[in-house]
Amino acid sequence: VIEVKNLKKAFGENPVLEGVDLTVNKSEVVVIMGPSGSGKSTFLRCLTYLEEPNEGIIRIGPHELHTGGKLDRKRKKEIRELRKKTGFVFQSFNLFPNKTAIENVMEGPVTIYGVKPVEAKALAETLLIKVGLGDRCDHYPSQLSGGQQQRVAIARALSLNPTVMLYDEPTSALDPELVREVLQVIKELAEEGMTMVIVTHEMNFAREVADRVIFMDGGVIVEQGNPEDVFDHPKEERTRRFLTMAE
Ligand code: ATP
Ligand code: MG
Repeated sequence: VIEVKNLKKAFGENPVLEGVDLTVNKSEVVVIMGPSGSGKSTFLRCLTYLEEPNEGIIRIGPHELHTGGKLDRKRKKEIRELRKKTGFVFQSFNLFPNKTAIENVMEGPVTIYGVKPVEAKALAETLLIKVGLGDRCDHYPSQLSGGQQQRVAIARALSLNPTVMLYDEPTSALDPELVREVLQVIKELAEEGMTMVIVTHEMNFAREVADRVIFMDGGVIVEQGNPEDVFDHPKEERTRRFLTMAE
């Protein structure tokens, strides 16, 4: 479903991604871990062109992009197609504060796909029920807890029927007691076969849900494998050091 080849990104003189390769299969759940500044967020953001990569190939579903070229009209259209197929969930929920939960979830289908508001509303309600917020449809973000806001954000990301969901530290802005409800929703999506790439520091969650754990450091993938191998028998010294510090 996802194929990334030799993705590179520098901010000015500062190289952040130094050639990242990644293949994610349908229904696979990949967790990315690594120290602060290792390029995890930049990598996710480059996948959807929230940051413009300098070099490399990105394929998501049928949409393939050879990055690095000029941002002309054709390229911009390709980027829009790519984005439609990816649901992105950020650390800081990013909801529209002046829209209710259901309006937040309806917005994408209505503005991007021209779905009729009645139909979009029905879909949004189904999605809010799915994330356990059927009784909060008409609440504004400020009237919801952080965990509830993040679940609205997940419903919103799902509303465009994405091929893959990307999460950047979805629970790290939450109070500890709210983390579980968000991870539970992600876990249910995994069980339904949603393809997902998740940057998180939640190791227990990674053990439970990930098909593959990737350890990133210094803008490259240092090591990857199933959670038992990476967590219990890391091959690389850098992975070992990171895991010791994280305990
Ligand atoms: P964290 O665990 O703290 O979220 P991360 O692995 O997500 O870290 P990134 O946010 O991808 O790391 O940042 C990687 C490097 O890129 C850092 O050195 C950061 O300073 C730099 N960087 C990120 N975004 C920008 C930007 N917009 N402009 C300049 N430098 C940036
Ligand atoms: Mg980050």
